[in-house]
Amino acid sequence: MKPLQELVRPNIWALTPYSCARDEFKGMKADVFIDANENPYNNTVNRYPDPLQEKLKQAISPMKQVPVENIFLGNGSDEAIDLPFRIFCRPGKDNVVAIDPTYGMYEVCADINDVEYRKVSLSETYDLNPDEILAACNSNTKIIFICSPNNPTGNAFQREKIEKIISSFQGIVIVDEAYSDFSDQRPFRFDILKYPNLIVLATFSKAWAAAGIRLGMAFASTELIGLFNRVKYPYNVNVLTQQKALEILGNATLLQRNIIQILEEREALMKSLSLLPICNKVYPTDANFVLVQVTDADAIYQYLVHKGIIVRNRNRVHLCGNCLRITVGTKDENTKLLSALRQYTK
Ligand SMILES: *Cc1c(COP(=O)(O)O)cnc(C)c1O
Repeated sequence: MKPLQELVRPNIWALTPYSCARDEFKGMKADVFIDANENPYNNTVNRYPDPLQEKLKQAISPMKQVPVENIFLGNGSDEAIDLPFRIFCRPGKDNVVAIDPTYGMYEVCADINDVEYRKVSLSETYDLNPDEILAACNSNTKIIFICSPNNPTGNAFQREKIEKIISSFQGIVIVDEAYSDFSDQRPFRFDILKYPNLIVLATFSKAWAAAGIRLGMAFASTELIGLFNRVKYPYNVNVLTQQKALEILGNATLLQRNIIQILEEREALMKSLSLLPICNKVYPTDANFVLVQVTDADAIYQYLVHKGIIVRNRNRVHLCGNCLRITVGTKDENTKLLSALRQYTK
């Protein structure tokens, strides 16, 4: 890895971050807070939230087995995806490299930040080639994005291939593990102390059943987390989100049962889908969705819409011709989908 100072945008390296009232006061016990121009009358949300979400991080830490000082929390993974662009990529100059197809937000964030987005195609079997990815980089490449398990293909990549990219690349590698709770593979978040250039993303939106609270996580070295904290909005995770997340973390057994149920339903759904005449191929998946190649994705998508069933049409995505991406629903939802598909006639 290059020295951090060479990777970080000069304006960010030199930045004096905004100092909020609750940053300046730390430690000491106090019971009069007249420092932040808040309304003193308690309605449960009259106070600003903890800017660094200490209590929440202390609850997440044992669950994810990552030390508190290596955790960043943001407004969904969206924030954790956008911040590295703002920290590392000089607009109009630097570039990032990503596999294709993959999660759409990386390219949108690159476009918003005026950063060149270089795509490296996966193979026909949705596998990645580390040498091709490394060959797509030049001296202005700041970040490589690897989503594993990948969206929309569903597969997780071989650990050795991702390790090769992380250990060979001189810049930052972001491994997005939004779906790792549905996979048997050892998560990369356990390797953040081994690789100073690694950022691992996770989210409350999928396995943790809390897409509505907008809470994303990034795990990385304390140096990288420090940069996230300097650049983020001071109060980026609101009080209600922090409260709800703590509540969810208090019920880990329910969460675990949910995941097992989704995995069981995934097996059953894949088997039933593969027996349908309209189904050409069910791709292997390590996520809570399955990519299916059908005879006519556009027609079947429209047919399902008329039946009140919405799947994701990926027909126009690179390497995903005639593919639908189907999220594993409840037993009832999956049954409705399957019976609609069985009734489908061209
Ligand atoms: C769903 C998803 C996320 C989650 O995004 P949030 O902003 O946390 O809801 C992140 N990465 C990938 C690849 C996803 O598919």
